[in-house]
Amino acid sequence: MTTFLGMPYAPRGVGHLRGDEPFPVAARAALADTQLRRNLGKATRTIRAKRAAVVAELPDWEELRAAGQAIKQHTLAHLDHYLEQLESRVREHGGTVHWARDANEANRIMTGLVRATGADEVVKVKSIVTDEIGLNEALAGAGITAHETDLAELIVQLGHDRPSHILVPAIHRNRAEIREIFLREMPGVDPGLTDTPAALAEAARRHLRRRFLSARVGISGANFAIAETGTLCVVESEGNGRMCLTLPGTLITVMGIEKVIPSWRDLEVFLQLLPRSSTGERMNPYTSLWTGVTPGDGPQRFHLVLLDNGRTAALADPVGRQALHCIRCSACLNACPVYERAGGHAYGSVYPGPIGAVLSPQLTGVEDNASLPYASSLCGACFDACPVRIDIPSLLVHLRARHVEEAARGRRLPTAEAVAMAAASWVMASPRRYAAAQRTGRAGRALGRGGRIRRLPPPLSAWTAARDAPAPPAQTFREWWQREHGGADGSAG
Ligand code: SF4
Repeated sequence: MTTFLGMPYAPRGVGHLRGDEPFPVAARAALADTQLRRNLGKATRTIRAKRAAVVAELPDWEELRAAGQAIKQHTLAHLDHYLEQLESRVREHGGTVHWARDANEANRIMTGLVRATGADEVVKVKSIVTDEIGLNEALAGAGITAHETDLAELIVQLGHDRPSHILVPAIHRNRAEIREIFLREMPGVDPGLTDTPAALAEAARRHLRRRFLSARVGISGANFAIAETGTLCVVESEGNGRMCLTLPGTLITVMGIEKVIPSWRDLEVFLQLLPRSSTGERMNPYTSLWTGVTPGDGPQRFHLVLLDNGRTAALADPVGRQALHCIRCSACLNACPVYERAGGHAYGSVYPGPIGAVLSPQLTGVEDNASLPYASSLCGACFDACPVRIDIPSLLVHLRARHVEEAARGRRLPTAEAVAMAAASWVMASPRRYAAAQRTGRAGRALGRGGRIRRLPPPLSAWTAARDAPAPPAQTFREWWQREHGGADGSAG
């Protein structure tokens, strides 16, 4: 039985964390899209270069990374304490705190809060956790329209599309495609709109300004929540967040429970790590901080929804819990060669790339996103890029092992892979058997062309479906050794 802060409960909804198709199937389609690969390659190369330049400016970057990691480890080890402290401080400052065990519960709470205001529209700051729980759809089901106000989220929403990157949700779109979406979907847009960045931004600004000024309810996520004072923090680049957080009369913030940090001193570390790792900036343009309600200034009703949705289950895994350290900077996506080629949609989860491959399976249960831990070459670029030193490659291997163990449980007959591995183990345990197997395997040379085998017969065809296999060499190492050194066959070494 899963537990939520010590209470048993059965998960009822995971929102948009589960893909329709396994990664290999979805990635095959994405790889055939040359425009997508061009867009992604250009965007990720640009962000990587910007990040590398600003990170190189800090002589204590590695110490900052270690500090970020230590703060997250400490917070998760005392999560119950810091969440209760946060709840108390928010209440003391006039806010209301709600606890949501899963996506369904969070959506029910938030839909009820919006309905209670009588509003049928809300403005939203970009929030991946609202994508995770499928909030927009839940609001739509209750007759409430959610307007995304981040430029990239607006592009995704108007294009009836799905986000493909944590930070740049429309990274798969180029300027010409965005212009077409605006001309088709944006009410009152200038028909002479060009695809220059300034013209596109101006069109979005005019469209959004009307929404901001009429909205009665704002919805946001949170980058951090400071337990010692009950202060929430949102960082963003466009000023749309500041509008959503200050103009409406009611503000509803939903955040994963792992976003809490103990103190303002801890925030100092993350405000250096996050902008450099995400947008390649020394400091993000807008950092909004608020504590409960301030009479006569900003929203006069503030609700904080604290969401579990699988996080306490991840916390129970001493290895897997590292994924909860993530500050959603997206540096691991930009560094990942698999993400750069397949794009975010192939992961099928709102959390794409390396962090999605280790977070989503833990939030849903490994069996529900079983293909994601395999969506990696384990090159380690994600670990090097991560500002809080999450060892993503080790997590991927850990989750693969969990998947294999869970899949084996309850199965009466071993899989073909398990039989093959047992046979390989038996062969390799004996030098004589190993030498005999090498001699037999040499027959496979007939299948090779140019030193590579492109197609093997079943069941080995599963291997060559996605990669070549090297053709067996004309002579084995042992034969070469015997010829060169005589006598010994190399089997003793
Ligand atoms: S895992 Fe690390 S690099 Fe990736 S998004 Fe999270 S914090 Fe950033």
